[in-house]
Amino acid sequence: MEYNQQEIRFITGAQLLYGGDAVVAVDAHSTEMVEGLNRSGRLPLKVVYKGTVNSAAEISAALTEANADRSCAGVIVWMHTFSPAKMWIHGLKAYQKPLLHLHTQFNREIPWDEINMDFMNLNQSAHGDREFGFISSRLRKPRKIVVGYWKDEATQTKIAAWMRVCAAWADAQGMRIIRFGDNMNNVAVTDGDKVEAELRLGYHVDNAPIATLVPYINNVEEAEIDALINEYERLYDFADDCKPGTEKHRYVRNAAAQEIGMRRFLEEKKAKAFTTSFDELEGMTQLMGLASQRLMAEGYGFGAEGDWKTAALVRTMWVMGKGLNGGGQSFLEDYTLNFAGADSSILQAHMLEINPEIAAGKPRIEVHFLGIGDAGTCARLVFQAHRGAGIAATIVDMGNRFRMIVNKVEVIDPKPLPKLPVACALWKPLPDLEIGAGAWIIAGGTHHSSFSFSLTVEHIEDYAEIAGVELLVIDETTTIRDFKQALRNNEIYYMLNKSFSA
Ligand code: MN
Repeated sequence: MEYNQQEIRFITGAQLLYGGDAVVAVDAHSTEMVEGLNRSGRLPLKVVYKGTVNSAAEISAALTEANADRSCAGVIVWMHTFSPAKMWIHGLKAYQKPLLHLHTQFNREIPWDEINMDFMNLNQSAHGDREFGFISSRLRKPRKIVVGYWKDEATQTKIAAWMRVCAAWADAQGMRIIRFGDNMNNVAVTDGDKVEAELRLGYHVDNAPIATLVPYINNVEEAEIDALINEYERLYDFADDCKPGTEKHRYVRNAAAQEIGMRRFLEEKKAKAFTTSFDELEGMTQLMGLASQRLMAEGYGFGAEGDWKTAALVRTMWVMGKGLNGGGQSFLEDYTLNFAGADSSILQAHMLEINPEIAAGKPRIEVHFLGIGDAGTCARLVFQAHRGAGIAATIVDMGNRFRMIVNKVEVIDPKPLPKLPVACALWKPLPDLEIGAGAWIIAGGTHHSSFSFSLTVEHIEDYAEIAGVELLVIDETTTIRDFKQALRNNEIYYMLNKSFSA
């Protein structure tokens, strides 16, 4: 998926009551606004003006065309004049893609000395957008409402965030996730309903026995490995005992073959995400740690131990954050706690697989024995994450629904960790460890998460809205008492939700 292959349609609502001059003016204003939005340089997707709709037939045609156009990732609607909303019922019922309702106005301020009834009838978004809001609410239509002047940075920034989510949503529809091996034995939280996931989130989850991957790795040529080792030498330091020419270097070469073979396999299968399992390595000599780190850095979603939901979310959040200078994103796992009063924190790590995009310094390739499952002696990139604010998100299957949880976190500097043979990040969950971790646990959040320095809670809110899944936000305002009440309320809401649908 490339951002330049997707676009957003802009449709203006009106009616013919106000005469031909009004129709011409509405169209001219809309054209100028869309050109202005595109010229702002703040929007990651191009906006394409699709005209003014003045009748039920025009509205239905515009929205069903948007459904059918594969390059259309979403629609922005705006009511320039009053647009009686019974006209919107059939079109909105049919419409299936992300919807943004922009509540704005062509002119910034009221022209105090000039304003007359003609002006009022032409510029009545304040009025028309409420009518549109009613029918959207009456239809229980998921949408993002952005209120603000269309030339303002704050308004455009909110539209931009939503566009990133639209691009990621389009990318996720039919997203193929390859599982190399099944879920780790008996682990509950990483599993879930794959049929519901395809229906609700668009994920298509496929199994690939390791035996089907092994030939891809074994067929990698020595010259290809040489070239990749050269790249590793350019990008990373090597521990002394695994540099070229040393005995342990063969593990790095084997990891390079895994990277090349896996990339070839995933490209052939048109997969965007994958999972691995340290318990299922038949025919391979090491867990594909370094390969997973490298593939994550180029946009493949990754989940360990068969965690396909996290693999998909890592991919989705990578697409959302593409091109942002935020400092990277990664699969991570809550590993070990550090109690230190107000600075209490959680060491995030995994057995191997952390994305080097979040590294504070130059990652170092190391080779160590990993005595868990069948993992063997594995190459890996070792580093500590840089400091900064970020978010950690997850999706769990509650039986009758998917639940997303997002927690604002602050990545801080750990003390030196001379004996830790894996990459890591140390973070304080907001508002603090007690409430942050407590809320995450009471919500049933995973030990795995998809972490990003680039994204904000707003991106995850927009995503949950489009997907129609439950969202729980843990941030500086969270209290356990209110959070528990939200859980109880949501339990009832999702029990009744189906009967609300239009
Ligand atoms: Mn794990």
